Amino acid sequence: MNYYSLNNKNQKVTFQQAVIQGLAPDKGLYFPESLMQLSDAFFENIENLSKEEIAFEAIKQFVGDEIPEIELKQILKETLCFDFPLVKVEENVFSLELFHGPTMAFKDVGARFMSRCLAYFNRNLDQKNTVLVATSGDTGGAVASGFLGVKGVEVVILYPSGKVSDIQERQLTTLGQNITALEVDGVFDDCQDMVKQAFLDADLKHKNLTSANSINIARWLPQMFYFFFAYKELKKYNKPLIVSCPSGNFGNICAGIIAKKLGLPITYFTASTNANDTVPRFLENGNYNPKPSIATISNAMDVGNPSNFVRIQELYNNDLSEFEKDFSSYTFSDEETLFEMKNIFVNTGYIAEPHGAVGYLGLKKEMQNFHNSIGFFLETAHPIKFLDVVEPALNVKLPIPTQIESVLNKEKLSFKISTYADFKKFLIA
Ligand SMILES: *Cc1c(COP(=O)(O)O)cnc(C)c1O
Repeated sequence: MNYYSLNNKNQKVTFQQAVIQGLAPDKGLYFPESLMQLSDAFFENIENLSKEEIAFEAIKQFVGDEIPEIELKQILKETLCFDFPLVKVEENVFSLELFHGPTMAFKDVGARFMSRCLAYFNRNLDQKNTVLVATSGDTGGAVASGFLGVKGVEVVILYPSGKVSDIQERQLTTLGQNITALEVDGVFDDCQDMVKQAFLDADLKHKNLTSANSINIARWLPQMFYFFFAYKELKKYNKPLIVSCPSGNFGNICAGIIAKKLGLPITYFTASTNANDTVPRFLENGNYNPKPSIATISNAMDVGNPSNFVRIQELYNNDLSEFEKDFSSYTFSDEETLFEMKNIFVNTGYIAEPHGAVGYLGLKKEMQNFHNSIGFFLETAHPIKFLDVVEPALNVKLPIPTQIESVLNKEKLSFKISTYADFKKFLIA
């Protein structure tokens, strides 16, 4: 499969080149040249397929023959080595729990898939890649864990100082080996801007920089698996299916929309956001007007200018009326989120962390528009990742899962930087 740059459709590369480059030389995000519907037989038979089989069917057209089938299946097996339970929260409302992986964040899947693709592409070469990742919270930990010890890959993680939780910070600053954490005096958008600038910097060309943010197709595309897994469970109800994704960079929801384009019977999507409401405002008035990010209790979604939104625009030819047939977006305040977390807990006993609660709010709102529908929201992190918010809000004490316990007593190691010049000096040194 070839991919083109969203800045220039004639700028085409292979899957391998797109993964290794991250971003096109002209700054555009890569986008698949074609989307082929999966067969009716696949959907008719999906309940009999394992998650590895479903994932293979979904991803194979995007990889083509660039990774042999047997290797790709092994990559998928290693990527999907944990569960994705769909938990009933109340009548017709389910939580798709994406937090059962090694770092308890949904980004484990994309990070594990991408690291193994890179390792495959580097298998015979003495080449080294440097993976840069800007994180507002969970990406850093998932990438650190997913890439730890992967041959020929150095990982540099940038995170905004003081703006990620203690657990998140430990997950990305304590691993060592090929993983380095840079603590940026700024907000997430500053980290993301530095990463983007580094890709365009001719002085850094020899570093073979690539990105492990969802701008990288190998981080982004495997996220579509979740939607297939949930459909497998919900198909039997035979009702209009509504999906709500708590959204920050809009990679997850964009992968879901790709799944729909492949034929997955999802009736409608909602992108639920916190106060960072660039997309809800766009859908309301047609003006795409990004703002600096605002700090909220769902900090992994504190993104002022969602990097994947251009991919969604591409999917709908940037036509607002086309968007609205498949897709809505709502914004919720921290007060609404906290109120709903308590409500869900009191009424159902389910513990939702802030991102999941934002997803739940959007789902409930959208389901009112669809008679007799069924729906799920993505629960994108384990509540323990946001214990500072969850414990006081619900007046509960959360037990610490083993995946988290293992990083809590490790020593934090990070380097402080404030400007792009600092960052560049670090990369060259
Ligand atoms: C990254 C993240 C999100 C947002 O996902 P996008 O694909 O960037 O929209 C939501 N919740 C959590 C916990 C995350 O880590």
